[in-house]
Amino acid sequence: MQKVIAIDGPSGAGKSTISKMLAERIGFQFLDTGALYRTAALYLIEKGLDENSSDNDISSALEEIQIKFIGDEICIVNKSDLKNGILGFSLCRDISQEIRTPKIGHYASVFSARKPVRDFLLNAQRDAAISNNIVAEGRDMTTVVFPFAWKKFYLDASEIERANRRYKQLEAKGIKISIQEAIDDIKERDHRDMSRDIAPLRRTEDAIYIDSTNLSPQEIIDLIFKVIKNN
Ligand code: C5P
Repeated sequence: MQKVIAIDGPSGAGKSTISKMLAERIGFQFLDTGALYRTAALYLIEKGLDENSSDNDISSALEEIQIKFIGDEICIVNKSDLKNGILGFSLCRDISQEIRTPKIGHYASVFSARKPVRDFLLNAQRDAAISNNIVAEGRDMTTVVFPFAWKKFYLDASEIERANRRYKQLEAKGIKISIQEAIDDIKERDHRDMSRDIAPLRRTEDAIYIDSTNLSPQEIIDLIFKVIKNN
């Protein structure tokens, strides 16, 4: 395994923005694990599955696909389209934009509590660190996926600040929700992510805690960079 910087934290704490900027600055690959959960959720919804579906149905559906990052894009590959295990570029369905809606965020959170989904994505995440140094962000990077990461961080922010960020992010994409809806969504996701039985979000003792409420992205990057440089 190469060097892994693992960053966990609740929804809207700024993990994706920070991880992407950090990865660019230090020449690591960025692993957006939320995008993997969102993609799995999109596929499961398309297959007509929901929170009441059985583990068997969920794993059978996921067995049909592979999820791939190609540059900045994330796509679904149907295994039946692979010829001798080789992917023709046109068969990779780019769903990078489709997965960024509140609906998919909701179902990603719902399905991510299910064992077949977490099992399906575990190796894909670990494989990313086989040949590249990575900055990996999510909910269980420091605890389950990369417990022996080179550096661990827990990025947090107040609930209202996270809701504001979520609201602005969606607004920039032309998706309208109210601030109250953003707050409710953050609360619901926090509860689900922190209380689920498998791989719940939690802060480990060896993860450096950063409260980003009053910090700019650049200030957070500088903080993280200082920790990395001093070791
Ligand atoms: O980070 P993002 O909002 O894209 O993640 C979508 C959902 O996927 C989260 O609300 C969380 O429930 C789930 N997730 C997870 N474990 C991860 C990454 C995301 O459970 N490592």
